[in-house]
Amino acid sequence: MPLDLEVAARERGMKYFLVSYTDLFGTQRAKLVPAAAIAGACRDGAGFAGFATWLDMSPADPDLVAVPDPDGLIQLPWKPEVGWLPADLVMAGRPVAQGPRNLLKRLIAEAARDSLQMKTGVECEFFLITPDGAAPADTADRQMKPCYDQAALMRRYDVVSEISDAMLGLGWKPYQTDHEDANGQFEMNWEYDDALVTADRHAFFKYMARSIAEKHGLRATFMPKPFADLTGTGCHAHVSLWRGDENAFSDRSDTLGLSQDGYHFIGGLIHSAEALAAITNPCVNSYKRLNAPRTASGATWAPNTVTYAGDNRTHMIRIPGGGRFEFRLADGAVNPYLLQAALLAAGLDGMRHRRDPGPRLDLNMYTDGHTVAGVKRLPLNLLDAMRALEGNAVLNEALGDFVPSYLKLKHEEWNAYCRHLTQWERDTTLDC
Ligand code: ADP
Ligand code: MG
Ligand code: MG
Ligand code: MG
Ligand code: MG
Repeated sequence: MPLDLEVAARERGMKYFLVSYTDLFGTQRAKLVPAAAIAGACRDGAGFAGFATWLDMSPADPDLVAVPDPDGLIQLPWKPEVGWLPADLVMAGRPVAQGPRNLLKRLIAEAARDSLQMKTGVECEFFLITPDGAAPADTADRQMKPCYDQAALMRRYDVVSEISDAMLGLGWKPYQTDHEDANGQFEMNWEYDDALVTADRHAFFKYMARSIAEKHGLRATFMPKPFADLTGTGCHAHVSLWRGDENAFSDRSDTLGLSQDGYHFIGGLIHSAEALAAITNPCVNSYKRLNAPRTASGATWAPNTVTYAGDNRTHMIRIPGGGRFEFRLADGAVNPYLLQAALLAAGLDGMRHRRDPGPRLDLNMYTDGHTVAGVKRLPLNLLDAMRALEGNAVLNEALGDFVPSYLKLKHEEWNAYCRHLTQWERDTTLDC
């Protein structure tokens, strides 16, 4: 039985519900529905003009209907009279194939038919900056190596403890918060769960971090590379795959504790990596984090090559311990649902086709990457990644109608960027 939202509203003091969906570019769109009308919204959905958001639709299309998922209910910790409800998309009575949450649910159901369940944890990094977006808000946060800076972390105690308390109250099992490798940058971690649960929490976390930061007169940003000389904002995902209670990625006899299925799953990610980047690194700005010059702190901590290793953070994939791996490619701009969908699609393809991930490279890829031949490099820009996605049979097949819709909108974005006349061009070309 799905949760009765009217009853939940009475018992927990919720006056309103946000019926919320995440569009192709990761923006959350919502209607605020009074508790007295929520039964109707659950039955009929809430109506939207899809074209007005980042979806591949036309102004002439019929109403886009967002149908809330009561199982995803999250009561806003900073405004408990409102409940947030992730929604699935329907148009003309049919599920919308390009809807990011719809897509993830379809892939999860397909994996379930093979008795497989992906569980993931995401590492949300973000900057706390001035409201105008110009600089890290804490002017005293100036260390060249600011990672784990205790003093800078504690100057933001009021903000991060409020977010952490919220996650504790929601039962997410948060277990640590730290200052990250860039001035003004933080990371908050909570426990891994089923892919859809993690995707909903990831989406909600971004909304929560922004909202609570705003309450404290700050701005939280997940932009991949807001400051050129500082480490960018990643969104690492840790992945395991389960058959019932058994972790299919666990094998104690392997040096790194990873099973053959795990290596094949990684093989799938390596096979499709350049195409995956179009989804996991979805903005023009994403490519200023990848393949970037060394940052002021000494390393970018972002991958440049399509490689994997054991507990070594200079590769696209790290195997930190038994039964899971860490995918380090995605950045803060990634759409929470598309991240999980892309991992599942490419990884399961690797398992099905027993794709070989190649040798594990126990090297510092930042300094010694050039010493190995035949290593694939990650795309240098969004256009290269989009072209890789266009030509990737695995993702086109698995993600279906989503891919052309996504690429259409992303090409429009790329073209808008190319039309933009920059100061750099004036500086380098005025005297040509
Ligand atoms: P890192 O060392 O990369 O900074 P973090 O502690 O920040 O790691 O994040 C690790 C994430 O991996 C957490 O969300 C954690 O719950 C998750 N995780 C741990 N074990 C597994 C597993 N078996 N499957 C999926 N995710 C896992
Ligand atoms: Mg209207
Ligand atoms: Mg971490
Ligand atoms: Mg980090
Ligand atoms: Mg990590």
